[in-house]
Order: sequence, then structure tokens, then C-alpha cells
Amino acid sequence: MSKKFQRFETKVIHQGYDSKQYSDSLTPPLFQSSTFAFANAEQGEKRFAGEEAGFIYSRLGNPTVQLLEDRIASLEEGEAGLAFASGMSAVSAVLLFLTKTGDHVLCSQGLYGCTFGLLQLIKEKYGVDHSFSMMESEEEVRKALKPETSCIYIETPINPTMRLVDLKMVVKVAKEQGIPVVVDNTFCSPYLQKPLALGCDIVLHSATKYIGGHGDVIAGIAVGKREIMDQIRVSTLKDIGGVISPFDAWLLLRGLKTLPIRMDRHCENASKIANLLKTSDMVEEVFYPGDENHPQYEIMKNQMSKGGGMISFTMKGSKEETQRFLNQLKMIKIAVSLGDAETLIQHPSTMTHSAVDEQSRKAMGIPDHLIRLSVGLEAWEDIWEDLKQALEKMKK
Ligand SMILES: *Cc1c(COP(=O)(O)O)cnc(C)c1O
Repeated sequence: MSKKFQRFETKVIHQGYDSKQYSDSLTPPLFQSSTFAFANAEQGEKRFAGEEAGFIYSRLGNPTVQLLEDRIASLEEGEAGLAFASGMSAVSAVLLFLTKTGDHVLCSQGLYGCTFGLLQLIKEKYGVDHSFSMMESEEEVRKALKPETSCIYIETPINPTMRLVDLKMVVKVAKEQGIPVVVDNTFCSPYLQKPLALGCDIVLHSATKYIGGHGDVIAGIAVGKREIMDQIRVSTLKDIGGVISPFDAWLLLRGLKTLPIRMDRHCENASKIANLLKTSDMVEEVFYPGDENHPQYEIMKNQMSKGGGMISFTMKGSKEETQRFLNQLKMIKIAVSLGDAETLIQHPSTMTHSAVDEQSRKAMGIPDHLIRLSVGLEAWEDIWEDLKQALEKMKK
């Protein structure tokens, strides 16, 4: 049996792994196997009947994947975890599990573009409705709930506006009505925010982002009560089939080891860059939850341990001028995704949120001169130097 650890920084490295069980291998082995051989026919029967523990087939479970699932569950302070082929397969498996025709999903005002697309798809094809709420007070959430609301789905910080939702407040209202609360925790990682500890029911991630952290994996994670996770595993994970490959799980285990030190640096750099952006006369407004002037700074302090590595800001200028600014950058890469070592910049209205119609984009607060910046791990001086020279070229 491997030891149970209490501290986050130790768990990311050791939780759930005992090298003695694996030929003293320091690093958890990669079980790159699609299936597992039974000792005899009776053992196969018992494993399928759930009477004997053990692996069957990698779509149902795999030792490398299981270590990742257990480690992430421990980091999120939940009972059980599930790993998926992408963040979107985690989102879709959870949403399809929690809804049926006639149900309604209450969402935060502003969602990842493809989550928005999925909600539209299940509305059109399967009659699962949804609506959005700013969720700024208990009354507002209560009013937005319907008798047929089967789950509340929240992103906080909201992508790409960096607005926050007070999770404890929403949980209080949801508990009165027995409605599960799902949180997409991608922007924070479990190091900065633990929605389950605040009373939420399911937390999910695009592990492609901070959890992987190195821009080399597409993957997803969900964590919650064991009873619910077991049901998702044998239904919308197993039968829709968005399973993670063992190699990608292995890469995530590798990335996870440095999550705390990476996040500290992301936060430190982002805080500096947010302050510097505010000094530019080409920048209209900066949105960063770690900024004392962020309108929801109090919520940030209550539910996040730091302000995070994501900033968004509006330029003084048109869409074309905003694009011209991006084209001037030298080190910073114009790319979607986030949470990588490299600083990445993108233009939400024409990139991540281009599939959202213009009216919904306006409602979400995504104008054409909004830019999203994923602050990387480079020296902050170099990140700022690049931004500054590009901002200065805008003046001509
Ligand atoms: C990237 C992202 C997703 C989707 O994850 P993939 O791994 O790209 O499928 C979902 N939610 C948020 C907030 C994201 O940033």
C-alpha cells in the first residue's frame, strides 16, 4: 500500500504510487496495453461481473490511467476521478450523464466556446434546454432556476472575461433544491481553487492546459463522489468512449509533478504583467482577478489561493488594430490553448469564441478589441518587453 499524503506539493509527486510494486521504478510505468489477459475463463467472468478487482480492457480502466485518476481526485479533494481523451469529452460525458430530454441546464454567463456549442447541439437534437445567468446574488440564481433544472454549470474565472462566480453562494441555493453544481476548473487547476471543498458536486478540467502544462497533450479530467463517477465511467465514458490514451495519462503524471511551482510562477508573472499593461495608453482596460481593483477581488480571495495566470484586456482600437498589435509580437505566440510554459495570446472574438454568434458574444462581454493572454513561465521582463514594443508600434 502506498502512503497517503496531506500536502499538495507532495501529493503531486507521490500520491498513490509505490515503486516497490513496480520493480523499484522511480517513475510510474506506462502500461501501453489495450487489453489484459485473464488467468482463466472463470476469472474473466468474475471481472466482468464486478466480483473480482482487476483490469479488463483499457477503455474500462488501465493502471497508468488509474494512477492519474486517483492522484487528481486526491488533489481536488474528491472521492474518485475519471480521465478523458479531451476536456470536451469530460464536459460532454458529465453533461450527458446529468441531463435527459426536457431538462434544463443553468450556466454561468460566459462559457468555453465548444461547451457553448455542445449545449446548443443537445438542445437542438435532444431537447435539453439551457440558459445563462450572471449569478451575482442568491436571488438571481434562485430566479434563474426552473423546475426542470437538472444541473448548474459554472466556469470561474469565466473564459475570456475573467469575471468570477461566487461558488459558495451558488452551492447554498443549489443545495436548497438538490441540484448538482458542476465547475469547469481549467483556469485555476486544483492548486488555486478546489470547488469540491466549497460544496460543488463535480469538478472538471481540460487537462490540456495547466495540469499537463507543457503543450503536448489533449486530455480531460472529472472528479466527484465515487458513486457518481462510477456511473459515469460505465455509461457516458465507456459507451461514448472518449477515453484517454495511457501515454497521455503518463505525460499528465509527469506534468503534474511541477504543477505547484509552475502555478506560482504563472501567477507571479501574470500579476506583474497585468500591472504593466495598465500603464500603457494603448490599453483600455485590464481584467485580472488577482488585481485589487478587480470588481470581484473579494470573491477571488475567498475561493482562490492566488489570482491565476490568465489576463484579458481591451485595446484602444478596432478589430483590425487589435489584430495588427498581435502581428507585432515577436516572442509571444499567437495561439489558442493556455497554461503552457510559453506565453500565448489569442483574439477570442475571431478564435476561441468565433463559433458563438455575435449577439451572444456581446452578452458574454467579448468585444472585437478584447485579447486573452496566457502568461507563461519566461522571465517577466521578456514577456513585458515583447508586449511593450508591440503596443508602441500601435501608436504610429
Ligand atoms: C480548453 C478548454 C476546454 C476544452 O478542453 P479540450 O482539452 O481542448 O477538449 C474546456 N473548458 C475550458 C475552460 C477550456 O479552456
